[in-house]
Formats: sequence, structure tokens, C-alpha cells
Amino acid sequence: MESFDALTSLVAGGGVVVLSGAGLSTESGIPDYRGPSGVARRHTPMTYQAFTRDPLARRRYWARSHLGWRLIAGAAPNAGHRAVAGLQHAGLVDTVITQNVDGLHGAAGSPSVIELHGRLDEVTCLDCGNLTSREELHRRLREANPEFVARVAAVNPDGDVDLPDEQVAAFRPVDCGICGTGMLKPDVVFFGETVPPQRVTRCFAAVEQARSLLVLGSSLTVMSGRRFVIRAAKRGIPVAIVNQGPTRGDGHATVCVDAPLGAVLPQLAARVGAGAPLKV
Ligand SMILES: [Zn+2]
Repeated sequence: MESFDALTSLVAGGGVVVLSGAGLSTESGIPDYRGPSGVARRHTPMTYQAFTRDPLARRRYWARSHLGWRLIAGAAPNAGHRAVAGLQHAGLVDTVITQNVDGLHGAAGSPSVIELHGRLDEVTCLDCGNLTSREELHRRLREANPEFVARVAAVNPDGDVDLPDEQVAAFRPVDCGICGTGMLKPDVVFFGETVPPQRVTRCFAAVEQARSLLVLGSSLTVMSGRRFVIRAAKRGIPVAIVNQGPTRGDGHATVCVDAPLGAVLPQLAARVGAGAPLKV
């Protein structure tokens, strides 16, 4: 395959920065909003504005997320994540920037990951600013809702699940355990919220130093990720995209591979000599 050969020679050249999205985690059982498996898209992601201003929306979020958390926490990295970690250990990939909040790059052994949209396994208090673990919150939510058992219909990439309103009404969210009254929010960037500027600056710096930018499993629908592709293209840095289906960055790419990541990435790692020590 001509495009696979072009992808291989780009990655073999080293100095690669990876930008990954939800498509990389679908094979770990975490569905994609916009990819081929997200066709139905019944789910509207929580916005920052609704979360902070509407107590009912917040209750609904925590009720659903409380159920979805077990599925997210139980997800394991797949062959694609392991191949990326292999490429990093082989010195070909310098930095991974991910739009995913599932922590699976780290779980696969990636040493250097910028989590653009935060992590679902951490919780922040919007009043006192303290960061606590999601496991700890999960324990507190379980204690506050001993009777709460519900059937999960579907889980979404942000750990949210679909749940009927009457079940939401019975759920009791908890406030910050440190300051006592603060509003808790998962330490992820919601829709309608901006990524912390320092984090964006780190990403731009990594992209500008890259020899190539490799996009994995992102349709680049939101500007949050697409801006790095645009910056790379403007600087004359080659962009390669591996994704199932077209993306909004295809016009900026020198190489596009439309294929499942769990199949392509281990082959790529093997071709550049980074796949051998990894179990796939
Ligand atoms: Zn607090």
C-alpha cells in the first residue's frame, strides 16, 4: 500500500509528535462520538455552562458518570496504544498529545503524554482548586447512594452513560471533601470550556519542534486538536493521518491512511523496528 509506505518512511525519520483522538480508544471498548461506531450519536456531551449553572444537569452528569466510571476504569490499552508506546521507547516519537481522557497511553507505557483535555481519573474542586482521585470520589458517591443500582444502556467517551430521568432524580451528588462545600468537576475539559493556556503552549512548542505530526484516530472536528495540524502545515512540517473515515485535516495532510488503528499501528511499529519487544 503506497500510503502505508509513505507513513512508514515518515515515522522512520523520527522526531514524530503524535496527536491522538477517540478513534484510538474504540478498540478498548470506549466508543467514539464521531467515528464510524458513533453513527447514532444520541448523546449530547455535557457543556461547562450547563454543568456549572444547572444543578439538575450536574446531578444527571454525576449519576450517569458514576455508572460509567467502572467501565472507563476497567478499560485496558489496546495494540494501537502499545505500538505508540513502542515507537516512543524506540526514540521515534518524542511526544504524544492526546485528546482522550481515559489515561490509556500512560497505561500502555507511554513515557511522555500531554493530556490536552485532562484526565477522567482526577477530580477538581471549582472552589478550593484541590485535585483528588476519582477512585476516592467513587467511594464517597457509593456511600452517599447505597441503593443506587441502574442498568447501563451505553457508555460514552467521557465516562457518561445513558440513564432514564427517574433514576437520575434519585441520585445524590457530593460536594468537595476538603473545603466541604465546593462544586466538584472531573478534571477534564468539557465542551464550551477552554484548554488551560500553558498546556496549549506546550503542545504548540512540541509540534513546532517536530519533524512530522502523526494524527491517530481523530476526525479533527474540534479546533482544539485541529489547530495543531494547521500550525504544522503552516510551518511546512509533514502531517500524516491514520483514521477510519475522512477528517477535517485531510487537506493539510501529506499522507492519509484510512484503516483500523489496532491493525495499522503494530504493523507500522514492526516495520520501523519498534514492535518486537511488545506483546500485541
Ligand atoms: Zn473544595
